[in-house]
Amino acid sequence: MAVDTLRRFLLEQAHVRGEWVHLDTTWQEMLQRADYPAFVRKVLGEALTAVALLSATIKHSGSLILQIRGDGPIHLLVVQATDQGTVRGLAQWNREAEGAALPDLFGAGHIAMTLEGQKSSERYQSLIPIEGESLAAALEAYFARSEQLPTRLWLTADDHTAAGMLLQRLPREHTSDEDWQRASLLLDTLTAQELVHLEPEDVIYRLFHEEEPRLFDPKPIRFHCGCNRGRVESMLRSLGQTEAETILAEQGNIAITCEFCNATYTLDAVDVGQLFKPSMPGTDTLH
Ligand SMILES: [Zn+2]
Repeated sequence: MAVDTLRRFLLEQAHVRGEWVHLDTTWQEMLQRADYPAFVRKVLGEALTAVALLSATIKHSGSLILQIRGDGPIHLLVVQATDQGTVRGLAQWNREAEGAALPDLFGAGHIAMTLEGQKSSERYQSLIPIEGESLAAALEAYFARSEQLPTRLWLTADDHTAAGMLLQRLPREHTSDEDWQRASLLLDTLTAQELVHLEPEDVIYRLFHEEEPRLFDPKPIRFHCGCNRGRVESMLRSLGQTEAETILAEQGNIAITCEFCNATYTLDAVDVGQLFKPSMPGTDTLH
């Protein structure tokens, strides 16, 4: 079985492109990092799948981040996929949800979809309302009413696998609404069972054999967190010396744990002193 893999395909007759993704050890690594209840696991897995699929349709170097903030049981969900094939994500919740529709899970708030390039100036954000039965429905509604290409998403997640498929209409002349609707209806016949248990070749052929699908090389996906000590230090620097020394005085050292990967960075008084050491003019040029 193709695990932790993204597979691109093209329906040449219909002028529709597609992506298939399976997240296995990637997804399990994320689940090990926090004790998520079932209703959080489901939507977190779907969100991770969505960000992996959507980032594959964007020609960019950098990352795509999907962040949902609301006043409901899950108050924060963040997932990220990079052009290097890495994903990470987390969710924070404070009570059980009473329903499974998106507003039951997240309450009032919004979904922010952010594309971050290599430079800080390359940053594009779209805000999407929290509405509909599922995350897929909310994202599809956004694509339908924005200037974006029409896009369909099929997302599923259980405790072992998060998997999904995406279809997107190509921006070409001579594509017909009929072609797009036919491909879209075929996607509706897909079952979670097929998505989780069939090889990508089999599921794509089973659904779209009349559309002459063309499959591209698989791309591996892995869990990776981009955090490091340098980033923690610059975060502390922006917090300011007074704040850092207050924490130091209270706790003896400053320990910061990354919520994405559980890595802990500890800085003692000497480390903190180094961070805020004034740069002495001329010291660089001493011989
Ligand atoms: Zn981390």
